[in-house]
Amino acid sequence: MGITRRVFIASGAAAVAVAVNHLGGFGSFAQSNRVLNLYSARHYDTDTAIYESFTQKTGIKVNLVEADADKLIERIKSEGANSPADVLITVDAGRLWRAQKAGLLQPVTSSVLKKAVPANLAEPAGHWYGFTKRARVIVYNKDKVKPADLSTYEDLANPKWKGRVISRTSSHVYNQSLTGSILAAHGPQKTEAWARGLVANFARPPEGNDTAQIRAVASGVADVTFVNQYYVVRLMKSDKPEDKAVASKIGVFFPNQGNGDRGTHINISGAGVVKTSKNRQAAIQFLEHLASPQVQEIFAKGNNEYPILAGVAKDPVLASLGTFKEDKLNAAIYGKNNGEALKIMDRAGWK
Ligand code: FE
Repeated sequence: MGITRRVFIASGAAAVAVAVNHLGGFGSFAQSNRVLNLYSARHYDTDTAIYESFTQKTGIKVNLVEADADKLIERIKSEGANSPADVLITVDAGRLWRAQKAGLLQPVTSSVLKKAVPANLAEPAGHWYGFTKRARVIVYNKDKVKPADLSTYEDLANPKWKGRVISRTSSHVYNQSLTGSILAAHGPQKTEAWARGLVANFARPPEGNDTAQIRAVASGVADVTFVNQYYVVRLMKSDKPEDKAVASKIGVFFPNQGNGDRGTHINISGAGVVKTSKNRQAAIQFLEHLASPQVQEIFAKGNNEYPILAGVAKDPVLASLGTFKEDKLNAAIYGKNNGEALKIMDRAGWK
């Protein structure tokens, strides 16, 4: 956990002495600003090491506010110009887009970020950047499906899958982003036809989260589903026998790998600088910290995600899923497409 203001005041004498050297008489004022308020929807214990190494590197303390993404966005909105928030961290480009659209983030350019973050994983004006990747993969029951039966997201609308597919609801941002990527690839008419075909193949009305879909496929409720890969890795790593049994029943398939096809849908965990931040430079430094090799490894492993930086060690269980071609669609496009995607899914009867 980051070091709080209270702890900072207790060690204030030493801090002021250091600051005075740099800033003359205004040192204590400048030093009191050296706290970064981080609003994060992440909740992994391993992230603590990331905040501590930032403080070691920069002398800037991290004050962490944790809540789910929608609550954090509402909180920044309601705090208005007085918001203490400097950085917003959350998952899924759809949510980052919402925060941007609500006017909560400011554009940032940084040569470090430009070099580290692939262009397709950053909002073009710099309102937010992706720091880890997640792939929305097909999960299948190995007793019922062979990998050769699978090909693309589009193919899950084929009548051959009638009564064999399950999904979580359309109200969840993960499915809105996936559908937003299909919208970018095929346009609204084909996307709606796809959604209708998919819904017609559902073995049951959408219910439960990604993990619930995996369990249901393992237990034979359906043959295939699509989920973020870290949910599979979590089950593979679990010590619980019931989770191990689930993991042994299922296979992971990376869709849309064919020659000339666009690749598997990639989403991000990302962050942006809050528009009203009083510590813009420190906030940018923090984003740059997230893009550094040591932090990349910890940040990715915390949630069994893929680092954005090439050459960073991957979690071995994650790596065992194999390599694949990624859809290089800019995350801002499927983020922006979320709203239209949801309307299409609604019309198609995707609950
Ligand atoms: Fe998730």
